[in-house]
Amino acid sequence: MTGRGSGKSPPGRQRPESLMMSWGYRPELSEGAVKPPVFLTSTFAFRSAEEGKAFFAEAYGLAPHDPKRHMGLIYSRLNNPDLEILEDRLNLWDGAEASAVFSSGMAAISTSLLALVPLGGVVLFARPVYGGTDYLLEHLLPDLGMSTREFAAGADAATVDELCRRLAGSGSPCKMIFLETPANPTMTLTDIEAVAEVAHRHDALCVVDNTLLGPLYQQPLGLGADLVVYSATKYLGGHSDLVAGTALGSRELIERVKLYRTILGTMLDPHSAWLLLRSLETAKLRITCARKNAQRVAAWLAQHPRVSRVRFPGLLTDAAQRRIYERQCSGPGALISFELADAGEKEAFRFLNSVRLIKLAVSLGGTESLVEHPATMTHADVPVDEQRAIGITPSLVRLSVGIEHPQDLIDDLDQALACLGDRQAAAAGPPPVNRGV
Ligand SMILES: *Cc1c(COP(=O)(O)O)cnc(C)c1O
Repeated sequence: MTGRGSGKSPPGRQRPESLMMSWGYRPELSEGAVKPPVFLTSTFAFRSAEEGKAFFAEAYGLAPHDPKRHMGLIYSRLNNPDLEILEDRLNLWDGAEASAVFSSGMAAISTSLLALVPLGGVVLFARPVYGGTDYLLEHLLPDLGMSTREFAAGADAATVDELCRRLAGSGSPCKMIFLETPANPTMTLTDIEAVAEVAHRHDALCVVDNTLLGPLYQQPLGLGADLVVYSATKYLGGHSDLVAGTALGSRELIERVKLYRTILGTMLDPHSAWLLLRSLETAKLRITCARKNAQRVAAWLAQHPRVSRVRFPGLLTDAAQRRIYERQCSGPGALISFELADAGEKEAFRFLNSVRLIKLAVSLGGTESLVEHPATMTHADVPVDEQRAIGITPSLVRLSVGIEHPQDLIDDLDQALACLGDRQAAAAGPPPVNRGV
């Protein structure tokens, strides 16, 4: 047994980074081990048949469950100490009442949507969203009888409200608005507070995928969102060595989502949960370092003659976008998209093939820096005209900045940009004054 069932609120003055080494775990219940063991067990012994009966009655909702206590341990598809400690700690970063951890970000998103969208209800979503989420919303949910409609990321509240009113008028009301902000790879920001208000006016839930900025720089629940989801594969895991996801929100919503998790079997495994516990101890250090590196790298890219445009929340020039940023984000994160000047796919590939320290790979949020080509990789299944409409050009490159020394990253980018040749530098001319979004 662990420190399960503590049920206390976190001490008010202590910050998440101070509690990541201890919260939700009591060493005296695990032979004094300072660190939580990996509970590699599928099932748990009851102390008596009566206890087994009581645990099942709680799990099946036949007896009232005290929400302040964890449920009795039965079987690892329902609950496991590593998952519970992890959920308790994740709650702290987002200021959530409850959370559920999943075998992937897509498991978190698909399980939450299946649990929370009623048949006949419409899901409105901001495009672009993550490719897997896009496929779920565009194909799988409609196959199951749920309708979905899109709007452009960055749309204002009036536009979303009008869409909701039209849907209500047509007899298929909007039941959920799904956002990803900043959008990937365009970095377009959507106003969470304004959209959540519209959702609530129409009796719909607002769900935010907060993977790109993470809980250090954006806390959607505090802005009125009902549920926040993450690919924990990215910044929360942070080492590119595991796949996991999480959903956080009110106890009531998370209980509904957990019922689906139990029946669909989309829970996280104890070993990955333990790895994530280890990752969370250094989350603030890693994410802060990557953000500082990204600010330096983005500023350097913005003045480079072979770079024509940098998309980074720390370099916004559009006034409306900057207002959203200042209201809802406390940092720009560490993901940068940029366009190579006077370049197409061929030149972009030459650049990607020339990086040495930086790895050519998809994914983001790890300790190592990664570059990729959205048009032919992460966003390859977006039709070309749509790609262009949202700003995914053949010269666009996405860079996830890691925790290396920033000068080494800049030197690597510099030599890779130099591989594009002098002719291009000449064609690009002198750097424009302003290169932000
Ligand atoms: C990676 C990612 C996902 C999917 O997460 P997996 O852990 O790969 O299933 C969802 N949303 C965003 C924004 C992502 O970057």
